[in-house]
Amino acid sequence: MENIEIARRLEELADLLEIQGANPFRIRAYRNAIRTISGLTRPLAEVAAEEALTDLPGIGKDIGGYIGELLDTGRLSILDEVTAEVPRELATLTRLDGVGPKKARKLWKELDVTTPDELESAAREGRVAALPGFGKKSVEKILRAIEDFRKHQGRFLRAEAVQYLRPLLAHLEGVEAIHRLEVAGSYRRGRETVGDIDLLALVDDDGARAGVMEAFTTFPGVDRVEMSGDTRGSVVLTSGLPVDLRILGSDSYGAALHYFTGSKEHNVEIRKRGQKRGLRVSEYGVFEEEGKGGDGDGDRSGGNGTDGRSEGDGARGRDGDSDPRAGHRIAGATEEEVFGALDLPWIPPVLRENRGEIQAAEEGRLPSLVEAGQLRGDLHMHTTWSDGRDSVREMAQACRDRGYAYMAITDHSQAVTVARGLTPERLREQWGEIDEAREQVEGIHILRGCEVDILKDGSLDLPDEVLEELDIVLVAVHSHFELDQATMTKRILTALRHPLVDILVHPTGRLINRREPYPLDMEAVLQAALEHDVAVELNTNPRRLDLHDRHLFRARELGVPVVISTDAHRTAQLAYVDEGIHQAQRGWLEADHVLNTRDWDGMQAWLKRREG
Ligand SMILES: [Zn+2]
Ligand SMILES: [Zn+2]
Repeated sequence: MENIEIARRLEELADLLEIQGANPFRIRAYRNAIRTISGLTRPLAEVAAEEALTDLPGIGKDIGGYIGELLDTGRLSILDEVTAEVPRELATLTRLDGVGPKKARKLWKELDVTTPDELESAAREGRVAALPGFGKKSVEKILRAIEDFRKHQGRFLRAEAVQYLRPLLAHLEGVEAIHRLEVAGSYRRGRETVGDIDLLALVDDDGARAGVMEAFTTFPGVDRVEMSGDTRGSVVLTSGLPVDLRILGSDSYGAALHYFTGSKEHNVEIRKRGQKRGLRVSEYGVFEEEGKGGDGDGDRSGGNGTDGRSEGDGARGRDGDSDPRAGHRIAGATEEEVFGALDLPWIPPVLRENRGEIQAAEEGRLPSLVEAGQLRGDLHMHTTWSDGRDSVREMAQACRDRGYAYMAITDHSQAVTVARGLTPERLREQWGEIDEAREQVEGIHILRGCEVDILKDGSLDLPDEVLEELDIVLVAVHSHFELDQATMTKRILTALRHPLVDILVHPTGRLINRREPYPLDMEAVLQAALEHDVAVELNTNPRRLDLHDRHLFRARELGVPVVISTDAHRTAQLAYVDEGIHQAQRGWLEADHVLNTRDWDGMQAWLKRREG
């Protein structure tokens, strides 16, 4: 069991215990432990094998025991005990924006509400607003949250799916009959969320299929088997992630990989391109249409180029009506072959969204996509001075160890009270610590920065004389998400006009699966960023990932510089960049479009762009 899944179970336990009314100190201890687990870079199974789990900071005897039980049995008996008293669905309610465990308890005890559906009816009937502690505003917020919840139900953050999937992939990689194993679908296209996983296994020996399917369906992390056939199986993992496995032979593997990678829109265009050339493209390969050449032999499934059924349909009819394997196969073993049959170079999966990639491929102008290894610094992170967990020095060491040439310390400003935002006085104090870190940690340039709050009217949360002393100024919205689009856009444009602003960070405010972006005219924002020489951020926190790929694509077109940063609140989160880079690639970004691929001299030059 992966750390993330263990953390998830314990979180559910803590939520349910809190709803039940357990001792707050116990709950707090559990939540601290969960934070420790989430920050671990080593698998807990490995830790448990080498030392006592209770040696880890914040892991007490209780939690240590629960983790041990989960690792050994995949179960958590205390969760069964608690759910005998507290309905398990209530844990889902606490995930809604605006409903924590305390409110969930009230809703349950007072109104007998346990599910989002019941909550919605109660809210619409005015029963929620009548409860003490729930006003009209909070009911509106809850209704919006329920809507968001429904929209995203069943979608997993890609970064989470990666972890849920890892043990299964390792398991299947140990199966000898599988010569190649790929994850297709939106996962392969690097989308921020995935609904399910499509695995494609290359198995040459037909006699080995049954064994491969069995290895798949009997994997210990499988919660239930939905289907198990000769070439296709379908399971749901204990994390809730649905996984499909398809077993393929070598002559169609590439075609299937292309087909199941999608997107649908991309595939439609590819099929059309094939049709223009007298070719039929399907998950089985690229085939010459009947009567358009091809002698028909050498093809296993097509025989003489046709069979009884497809003959009557007419091969130039609709694709779906004819036998997809009829005709003479000219490509299919690899994706390169499939694209090649259509006179195209291989197109990276992250680009297959029908945003002009086929034409770009044809004209030889596919972008050379930015990679995480090209980044020379991280310009957005937090420390213990606001809501981060590690010190300035620890963050600096971790950035240096990642090989960065520079970094910026950017704690919150005072308006963000929940994150212990800094007053001008405390910010100045922090500079002393930054100076110390500059001496202690060699080999990296540490910029003095701040994530300055954009107040409701668009003014900034720190006076100009303080901003002037900073090396880099980030601005962001953290409040009043309810403003209408015109007001919100005006608010942000006001901030962008401020002559000391460098980067607009997490520009849409969304939290994937939790909070929709606030309404914003992004075109106006990007135009203003261009006009005022402000960069925009791609925040690689897996819940944020904004700017979104479409907006990054537009920023690239306009020439607005993009910064890729992690917004790390602890050293381990500096690794967010490795997953977040997919979003940049989906936005067609190349190294030149990304400000923090510049070396230190280049970065300094940019920071001084308004001088002289
Ligand atoms: Zn922020
Ligand atoms: Zn931040």
